[in-house]
Amino acid sequence: MDIELSAEDLSFREEVRAFFAENTYKPGSNYIEWRLEWFEKAAAKGGWDVPKWPTEFGGPGWSPTQHYIWEQETAVANLPMDAPFGPGMLAPVLMAYGSEEQQQRFLPDIRARKVNWCQGYSEPGAGSDLAGLKTKAVLSEDGTQYVVNGQKIWTTMAHMADWIFCLTRTDDSGKKQEGITFLLFPMKQEGVEVKPIITLGGSHTVNSVFFTDVKVPVENRVGDEGKGWTYAKGLLQHERTGLAGISRSIVALEKLKEQARSVKRGNGTLMDEPSFRAKVAELEIDLMAAETTELRSLASASSGAAPGPESSILKLKGTEIQQRIQKLTVEAGGIYSAAWGSAKAGPRFAKGGMGGYLSSRAYTIYGGASEVQKDVIAKNVLGLKSKKAK
Ligand SMILES: Cc1cc2nc3c(=O)[nH]c(=O)nc-3n(C[C@H](O)[C@H](O)[C@H](O)COP(=O)(O)OP(=O)(O)OC[C@H]3O[C@@H](n4cnc5c(N)ncnc54)[C@H](O)[C@@H]3O)c2cc1C
Repeated sequence: MDIELSAEDLSFREEVRAFFAENTYKPGSNYIEWRLEWFEKAAAKGGWDVPKWPTEFGGPGWSPTQHYIWEQETAVANLPMDAPFGPGMLAPVLMAYGSEEQQQRFLPDIRARKVNWCQGYSEPGAGSDLAGLKTKAVLSEDGTQYVVNGQKIWTTMAHMADWIFCLTRTDDSGKKQEGITFLLFPMKQEGVEVKPIITLGGSHTVNSVFFTDVKVPVENRVGDEGKGWTYAKGLLQHERTGLAGISRSIVALEKLKEQARSVKRGNGTLMDEPSFRAKVAELEIDLMAAETTELRSLASASSGAAPGPESSILKLKGTEIQQRIQKLTVEAGGIYSAAWGSAKAGPRFAKGGMGGYLSSRAYTIYGGASEVQKDVIAKNVLGLKSKKAK
C-alpha cells in the first residue's frame, strides 16, 4: 500500500533506518548485553523503546504515519527479541487500572526489559470460555495476602519468566465474569511449579503451571477485587492487535515470492505457474486489506484510544494470512519440505518450512481462537445478537 509520506515523515524514516543500522547486533558479541543496551538507546531517542505507550508514561507520541513507518521498518530490521507480555500487555493495564505505587514499582523494569512476564489466563477447561476459570485466590483473615491454588496451561515462556500476571477466582457466587481478580506475583517462589509442553513444531515455548498455596501480598492486586474481568478484556485487545503481524507478513510474502522464483518448473519457475501465482495474488490482496485495517487501528491508538473491536478483525485476518504464507512456503519446497530440517537435497528454505508451518497452526488459537474473534466481530462490529441474548 502507498501512503503519502511528507518530507518530515521521510526524514523520520531515514532516522529510524539509521538507528537500526547503527545499533544492529554484531555476531559474536554478548546478545543479552546488546539487547539491554539497544532498549536503553531507543529510550534515549525519546520513547522509541515503547512506541505504543502514551506520552505521559514516556511514549514518543507519534502520528499514525510514524507508527506505520516504524512497523514497516521493524519488520525488516534485526531487532532484539521482545516478549509482548510486559511492555505490550501488562503495561497498558497498569497504566489504566494500576495504583500509582504499582505503576512506579513495575513500569520502569518492564520498560527496561529487565523483568520477564508471562500471562496466566488459560486453564484446562477455560480457554475460549476464559471466564470459567477456577484457580482460586483466598484472602487471608487479616486481609494482608491471597493464597492461590490451581492450574494454568499453555503459559508461554513461563519457564523463563520472573513474574506472572494471573487471573484468579475470588468469588464464585455470581455470574462467572464477576469474582475474577487480577494478581501479580513472582514465578520463582515456593508453590509455583512449571512443567514443559512440547508442541507440534518440536519446540518448548508453552507450559503447564501449578500453584499450591502461593502467597500473594494484597498490594499485588491490580484494581478492585472481583473486577479483574474488565482489566483482562482490555489486555486481550492489546494482545490481539499485536498478534496480527501485518508488516512481518509483507516481508515474508516478498521472501516467499523470491523462494518460488528459485524453484524450477519446466522452462520457468514456480512463480510462473498460474495456480501458484493465483494463490500468491489472493494472499497479497488480503494482506493489503489487512494493512489498511491496521492503519485505522494505529490511527485510533495514536490518538490515545484503546484498541477496539477492529483488533479482532486484525487478529483473525492477520493470523490466517501468516498461516497461508507458511502453507505456500511448504508447497514451494515440495517433497523436500517433508524431510523437515534433515533434507540434504532441495532448496535451503525447505528445511525450515515444515517446522514453521506446524507451529503456525497455533496462530489462530492463541490470543483467542478465530471462531471467538468471529463472535466478537458479529456482536461488536456488525451488531448481531445471539439467540440467547435476545
Ligand atoms: C502456542 C500457544 C500459546 C499460548 N500462550 C498462552 C499464554 O501465554 N497464556 C495463556 O493464558 N494462554 C495461552 N494460550 C492459550 C490460548 O489462549 C487458548 O488455547 C485459546 O484461548 C483457546 O482455548 P482452548 O485451547 O481451551 O480451546 P477451546 O476453548 O476448548 O476451543 C476448542 C475449539 O472450540 C472452538 N470454540 C470454542 N468456543 C467457541 C464458540 N463460542 N463458538 C465457536 N467455536 C468455539 C474454538 O475455536 C476451538 O476451535 C496459548 C495457546 C497456544 C496454542
